Amino acid sequence: MPGNFKTEAIVLRSIRYGEADRIVHLYTAARGRVGAIAKGSRRPKSRFGGRLEPFFRLDLVLHEGRGELMTVTGAATVDGYGTLRSDGARIGAAARACDAVLRLLDAAEPNTAAYNLLRSYLELLDGPQGEAGSRPGVALAFRAKLALASGFAPELASCARCGEAQHLSAFSGAAGGVVCAGCEGEGFPLSEEAHTFLVSALGSPLADAPDAGAPALRAAERAIGETLEHHAHVKLRSAA
Ligand SMILES: [Zn+2]
Repeated sequence: MPGNFKTEAIVLRSIRYGEADRIVHLYTAARGRVGAIAKGSRRPKSRFGGRLEPFFRLDLVLHEGRGELMTVTGAATVDGYGTLRSDGARIGAAARACDAVLRLLDAAEPNTAAYNLLRSYLELLDGPQGEAGSRPGVALAFRAKLALASGFAPELASCARCGEAQHLSAFSGAAGGVVCAGCEGEGFPLSEEAHTFLVSALGSPLADAPDAGAPALRAAERAIGETLEHHAHVKLRSAA
């Protein structure tokens, strides 16, 4: 239904378009994933200024017409995350997070858990713990929580094939979770450290995300990645 609506949104990607326009991929609080054109936004005196860039959190007025793209008619900055922007590692972490949201959440429907998760991660990267926020354990915890928010969290409590609660020694993306010794034929070995990391990453706030050794983090990333490939049909770039 054509008309204007207001929403808070985070800019995931910003692409130059035509002579003076910009197309922005947004994750909005009200509508989920939205694409919009900002006409004239690359003119020097544009009222949008420089705020239609990745990671900006904005209060937007969007016009929904008949076309696929909405039109940005108003934009005010809620937070530009200036500290995040001053550090290459944090920018890299924020860019990988936005890329994962782009790939995994492509529906134009609200997902409050996913929106708040992305906002929390950008706030963490921008804050006093920001440097720690770009460490691999936190980046991977973000990804595990994003899988949960999008409905594709791996089963971690019991065998995803037969329900057995003991001897959970492997992980199967096809089964969508840990598998027991009797069902492990289709999976890859998952160490106790990697299993504990995943449970703890899903159960803690991002700022308290656990740490683990590099092999355990690699296995945990593979577990999330294979679950999303099998069940969401999405392949993510490496998490860190
Ligand atoms: Zn089993």
